[in-house]
Amino acid sequence: MSITPLMPVYPRCGVRPVRGEHCHLIDEDGTRYLDFASGIAVNLLGHSHEGLIGAIQQQAATLMHVSNLYGSPQGERLAQTLVDTTFGDTVFFTNSGAEAVECAIKTARAYHQNAGPENANGAGDASRFEIITFHNAFHGRTMATISASNQTKMHHGFAPLLEGFKYAPFDDLEAAKALIGPHTAGILVEPIQGEGGIRPASQAFMAGLRALCDEHGLMLILDEVQCGVARTGKLYAYEHYGIEPDIMATAKGIGGGFPLGACIATEHAARGMTFGTHGSTYGGNPLAMAAGMAVMDAVANEEFLASVTEKGERLRSRLEQFIGNYPELFELVRGKGLMLGLKMKMESRPFYVHLRDHHQLLTVAAGDNTIRIIPPLVIGDAEIDEFFDKLSAGAASFKVPEAA
Ligand SMILES: *Cc1c(COP(=O)(O)O)cnc(C)c1O
Repeated sequence: MSITPLMPVYPRCGVRPVRGEHCHLIDEDGTRYLDFASGIAVNLLGHSHEGLIGAIQQQAATLMHVSNLYGSPQGERLAQTLVDTTFGDTVFFTNSGAEAVECAIKTARAYHQNAGPENANGAGDASRFEIITFHNAFHGRTMATISASNQTKMHHGFAPLLEGFKYAPFDDLEAAKALIGPHTAGILVEPIQGEGGIRPASQAFMAGLRALCDEHGLMLILDEVQCGVARTGKLYAYEHYGIEPDIMATAKGIGGGFPLGACIATEHAARGMTFGTHGSTYGGNPLAMAAGMAVMDAVANEEFLASVTEKGERLRSRLEQFIGNYPELFELVRGKGLMLGLKMKMESRPFYVHLRDHHQLLTVAAGDNTIRIIPPLVIGDAEIDEFFDKLSAGAASFKVPEAA
């Protein structure tokens, strides 16, 4: 047998972490890495946060799982916290980002098709099912969420895709507008594209999408799975734009490393999500709720958010200075808060591998020749200094591979 016990869908590298300490990972043979990848924007409190560990330990010893057939004081608490701190009125908990986006898509379709108890006759508009999405988006790996992206490398081998997605170029309002028709149900967008290369949407684009949705009676759905939960210095990135969505998916950072996601909606947007329309066995179980509550307690306050903004600005201005020394390698720095992208003048993967293997610095490669710099939000001066030591040494020793 030549297949590996772990299904070989990831080209895994030689780093094999067995322990985490604050902003560092230690691998099997004792090598210490500075972690500016955070499990892809997940470990926002670092790797050994006492509050998070304590909350999970205590809940595990008290009650780990019960069915959603029962009342959930733990779920009500976290849902109330999210309702209090966001645009939303109601929350569905999931175990991952893709499931949160999946629920958001279902909520948008049901808004039109299952108009719900507020309509006297309950009759919906079954002709509205299309969702407009954007080029180079990433929304997850389920059938619906790969169908929601135009990235054909994720589609290959999985035909037929789910019907009902139309793709426009990112940040192109006129192109999105041109796709609106009698079947459109909503618009789904990442305010800052993550996998696509840390590309923030412009103010005019986000405000324009909100206005289009209002004008045509469509659901504005934000995928904040990567950019949400304090990552950009606001609890959610939509706050930077002065607009509010109808529906939003959040995950990654919200569990701080425990699998947790959520679909948040306004009361109006959730009108189709009535008894029996959706469900999940694990979604919102007490253990996940304890993790989410510990994360929200740590990050959902002005002091913490201001610290992310301040560190993000410091990191960014030092990065901008730094790239001036290597104009042949780097093009620009972009992003918000501690979600930064270093765009290179060549494919970024070789430099990311070089930093990892020769300088023990973990980042994440992304689309559009970009290196993602997404550290735990609890980094301090020492980690920022160590990052620049490693990055400078890495840039100085990097040999650009011959073009293939
Ligand atoms: C990671 C990600 C997802 C998918 O999350 P999973 O937990 O891997 O299912 C969806 N949308 C965005 C923007 C992401 O970054």
